[in-house]
Amino acid sequence: MFEDLIKEMERMNGQSVSVEIESDEKGYIDKQCPNEECEFIFKVNEEDWGIIFKDEAVWCPFCRHEATSDQWFTVDQVEHAQAEALAVMKGRIHNSLRSDAQKFNRRQPKNSFISMTMKVTGGPKRTHTIPAKAADLMQLEIQCENCESKFAVIGSAYFCPACGHNSVTRTFRDSLRKIRAKKDGVGIVKQALIKTAGKDEAELACRSLIETCISDGVVAFQKYCDGMYENYGKAPFNAFQRLEQASELWRSAIQEGFDAWLCEEEIRLLSILYQKRHLLAHNEGIVDAKYIQKSGDNTYREGQRLVVSAKDVENLVACLEKLSNGIEDACSKEDINSRHP
Ligand SMILES: [Zn+2]
Ligand SMILES: [Zn+2]
Repeated sequence: MFEDLIKEMERMNGQSVSVEIESDEKGYIDKQCPNEECEFIFKVNEEDWGIIFKDEAVWCPFCRHEATSDQWFTVDQVEHAQAEALAVMKGRIHNSLRSDAQKFNRRQPKNSFISMTMKVTGGPKRTHTIPAKAADLMQLEIQCENCESKFAVIGSAYFCPACGHNSVTRTFRDSLRKIRAKKDGVGIVKQALIKTAGKDEAELACRSLIETCISDGVVAFQKYCDGMYENYGKAPFNAFQRLEQASELWRSAIQEGFDAWLCEEEIRLLSILYQKRHLLAHNEGIVDAKYIQKSGDNTYREGQRLVVSAKDVENLVACLEKLSNGIEDACSKEDINSRHP
């Protein structure tokens, strides 16, 4: 009575259902980091995925988790595929039951005393899968300077998913963007905190948020210099945390110091900010004689507490940006000269 169903079940045994994954309008497909702590969602250029990416290893742009290329389906894609596989199996079972019922009904003798019919409700069901739709476009598209693969993220990325390369210059630009976003968002954060935690807590949290921008900038620039300097030798530990020493290191490497890219006033501002950062890190922001002497900042007297303003953060980011642009230009010139002496 159920010949078709039995045949269908035998056919389905061990068979796989494949579900297509669509790319978005820009030709990118969605991927997700399989590291459960991370689960970072990103996109990769579909063509590059076939040509540049390797089966043995793909890296998470955010945490650099490494896994084989078949591990990067997004949670949405997996759920969609499971639902589709189930729909296809149900469809095939339903359709074989229908054809069994039709055969059964045809076989009934016309003039018998009792007649029996079998009925499977509903028309034929689909046995093909519907592709997984692509998620929304991502604004930030990146091309790896090392392997040239293209990928897209929300926020920022540290590593190339195709080769694991960490771009020193991109990481630094992302850090500056993050610092600006922190500074610009402080007003909104404050309003939200006043409602939930009260005015005092809001004031404290936001002041600390602005102050962290200064050390974020100093550390980001230090890492940037460490990375960019690698071609010229090994710099002493933490040397790029000190402005004058950093400038001299670059002068010896590429014949230009920070005075090539910043005016006197900017250097003065920047050294005050570096000293402020030192004071915040090591003296809870309380001004001492050493600070006044080293920074030349006469707006404070010993024992006062530093104030870090949004303007300070803006100045810091602007100066660091100018320095990094100068360093990059000079390094690429050096690079060309060394290749064509
Ligand atoms: Zn990750
Ligand atoms: Zn790469």
